[in-house]
Amino acid sequence: MEKTGFRKNLINIEPYVAGEQPKSENIIKLNANENAYPPSPLVQKAISGFDASVLRKYPDFSGEPLKSKLALYYGLKPSQVFVGNGSDDVLAAAFRAFFNSDKPILYPDVTYSFYPVWCDIMRIPYKTIPLKEDLTIDVNDYNTENGGIIFPNPNAPTSIALDKDKIITLLDNNRDVVVVIDETYIDFGGESCIDLLDKYDNLVLTRTFSKSRSLAGMRLGFAMASEELIAYMNAVKDSYNSYPVDAVAIKAGCAAVEDDKYFKDTLNKLVSTRERLADALSDMGFDVADSSANFLFAKHDKYAAKEVFAFLREKGIFVRYFNKPRIDDRLRITVGTDEETDALINALKELI
Ligand SMILES: *Cc1c(COP(=O)(O)O)cnc(C)c1O
Repeated sequence: MEKTGFRKNLINIEPYVAGEQPKSENIIKLNANENAYPPSPLVQKAISGFDASVLRKYPDFSGEPLKSKLALYYGLKPSQVFVGNGSDDVLAAAFRAFFNSDKPILYPDVTYSFYPVWCDIMRIPYKTIPLKEDLTIDVNDYNTENGGIIFPNPNAPTSIALDKDKIITLLDNNRDVVVVIDETYIDFGGESCIDLLDKYDNLVLTRTFSKSRSLAGMRLGFAMASEELIAYMNAVKDSYNSYPVDAVAIKAGCAAVEDDKYFKDTLNKLVSTRERLADALSDMGFDVADSSANFLFAKHDKYAAKEVFAFLREKGIFVRYFNKPRIDDRLRITVGTDEETDALINALKELI
């Protein structure tokens, strides 16, 4: 049947593909950058003690009191914080709000694979900027006319962080467009740009509870920016959907932010496991990118990534392999617990 008025870009769209979510209990899942550790015990307590009668009413539309808690934690005004259902929801709102120019938005050729999906479905023109040979971003390459810029810091799937002085150069060169920095992995390393929000009213930072705060299943994310830009994001959200963050998630999110000691202890554990795994992989002949995230991006000269991926999968260890130009020689490996990391190292030793 010939369908008219139906957007071709919807028919041809290539949806985002997430890491597999295998059902078996006995597998070691290192393929979606989820946190190896459970959320804070305070989150468990908040959910167990949740008063279901509250659910009779709609939740607060702006995510209060979580929004104010985040503002206090990061030293901002509540009007500088936007709360959404995972940072994917937050990023989609930012794309809709800020990327409306006829000029292309810019992002790295190797980056979070959801960006092109949003560009396609929202009909946003874009241009990808190749990473350098060593997989780093050269900010001078962004010194060209554009309708906005987005990149993760640290970048994914490369795991490499961009120095703040370079980010400042990029911001200075791009004062009249919105620059979105996806700080999904910033808690694991690299330097946040929160303190630049005062100076750059065109800067938007997005964050998530999914990775560093162990709440991927809860769907909580947020953005931080100038009051003006946050107001635009709220306008977009209230125009496209009326899905504020739910009441249980608000409670759980508040509890996660309150338990700062648990948060930092978990980060420290993961960072030290990351360094141990990076060393072990290097010893086995892998080239491992300098990671500031909770995952490693590694390649081996003698063993094809695809084969290592299949070998590990056979052993019940799931890592991520991208069959894409420039990165099909590498594996993205999430940092797990110490036991999971030992199992991974031992499995690899059998092969190598
Ligand atoms: C995981 C991830 C996200 C999305 O996280 P959610 O909050 O779970 O939607 C966004 N950006 C990057 C770079 C990611 O790796």
